[in-house]
Amino acid sequence: MTDTIPDHNQAQARVAQLHEQLHRYNREYYQQDNPSVPDAEYDRLLRELQQLEQAYPDLLSDDSPSQRVGSLPLSAFTQVAHEQPMLSLDNAMNAGEFADFYARLQRLAASEQEIALVCEPKLDGAAVSLLYENGRLLRAATRGDGSTGEDITANVRTIGNVPLRLEGEVPSRVEVRGEVYMPLAGFERYNQQARDNGGKVFANPRNAAAGSLRQLDSRVTATRPLEFCAYGVGVVSDDFARPDTLFEVFQCIRRWGLKVNDELTLADNLEQAQQFYQRLGDKRHRLAYEIDGSVFKVNDLALQQKMGFVARAPRWAVAYKFPAVEQMTRLNGVDFQV
Ligand code: NAD
Repeated sequence: MTDTIPDHNQAQARVAQLHEQLHRYNREYYQQDNPSVPDAEYDRLLRELQQLEQAYPDLLSDDSPSQRVGSLPLSAFTQVAHEQPMLSLDNAMNAGEFADFYARLQRLAASEQEIALVCEPKLDGAAVSLLYENGRLLRAATRGDGSTGEDITANVRTIGNVPLRLEGEVPSRVEVRGEVYMPLAGFERYNQQARDNGGKVFANPRNAAAGSLRQLDSRVTATRPLEFCAYGVGVVSDDFARPDTLFEVFQCIRRWGLKVNDELTLADNLEQAQQFYQRLGDKRHRLAYEIDGSVFKVNDLALQQKMGFVARAPRWAVAYKFPAVEQMTRLNGVDFQV
C-alpha cells in the first residue's frame, strides 16, 4: 500500500477487490493446499486491507479476511465443532512491532513490570487438536475456520510420535494443541519421489503437512513423514490441577508423553525475548524442520485470561516473523521469483 490513504470511494473499491483476492488465496492455501502466490505477497495484501479498515472503520465487515481464521472445513470429512475456538496469531514483522506488542501487554496488565514470555519456534505446518479421554486418543481435528474443523483421527493415528495413550497422571479429558509438520529431510525425499513418479510436488513443507493430513485414505497419510509438536492445551477437565504458568503446562504435556519443542525457553523480559529471536534466527537453517518465526506467549495464565482475545487471535501472544529471505520458488509448477 502507498503511504497516502485513498479517499473513501477508492478505499471501498480496493477493499472489495482485496476481499475477493484474499478469499481466493485462502481457499487455494487452506482447502487445496496449493497456493498461487508466495506468503509475503499474501501478507502484504492482508496488511493493506487492515490499514484501509483502520482508516475507514465502516469498511470493516464480519466476513472480511482480516477477521477470519483459515477457511471452511472440507465437506469430505466429518465436521468437528471446537469447544474452544482455534485461533490464529497476530504478527510482528520487525523489532519495532515486537516492542509495540510488549508495550501493549504492559498496558493490558496495567503494570510497568516485566512480563515473562514463553518463547517457541513457529513451526510451519498445520494446527491440530488432539482430544484425549481417560488418557486415550479419542479424536483429532484440523483448525478449519477456527470454530469448525475436520475430523482427521484416522490420519493422525498414523503419526508415529502421537501417543495413542498418554502416560502418568492425566486429566480425564484434555485437548492438546500443536502443529503437525513434515521435517525437511522427509519433505525433500517425498518431493524427489513424486518428481520421479510424475506425482504431485508440494510447494513447501507446510502444504505437504496439511495435504497429507487431509487424505481420505489414512494408508496414504501413513506413508508421509509427519511429526507432531505440542504448543498448548485447549479444553481440560476440572480434575486437572492447573498450574499457574504456561511453562509448567508444557512440562505436564511432556510428562504425558507428547513432544514439546527442544528450543522452548522462558524469557523474563523484552530483551531476553529479543535475544531468543536472534538466536533462533541464526540457527534457523540448521534446524531439521522449517520455521518462519518465533512465537511469544505470556507465561502467567491468569494474565492471559485477563488479556483475552480479539477477532482472530489472542492478545497475549504474537508470531514474530523472520524476514522473508527465501520464499517459495515454485508455485503450481511455475518458477516464482521473490
Ligand atoms: P499463522 O500460520 O501465521 O499463525 C497461526 C498458526 O501458527 C497456528 O494456527 C499454528 O498452527 C501455528 N503455530 C506454529 N507454531 C506455533 C506455536 N509455537 N504456538 C502457536 N501456534 C503455532 O496463521 P494462519 O492464520 O494459519 O496463516 C497465516 C499464514 O499463512 C501467513 O503466513 C500467510 O502468509 C499464509 N497464507 C498464505 C496464503 C497464500 O496464498 N500464499 C494464503 C493464506 C495464508
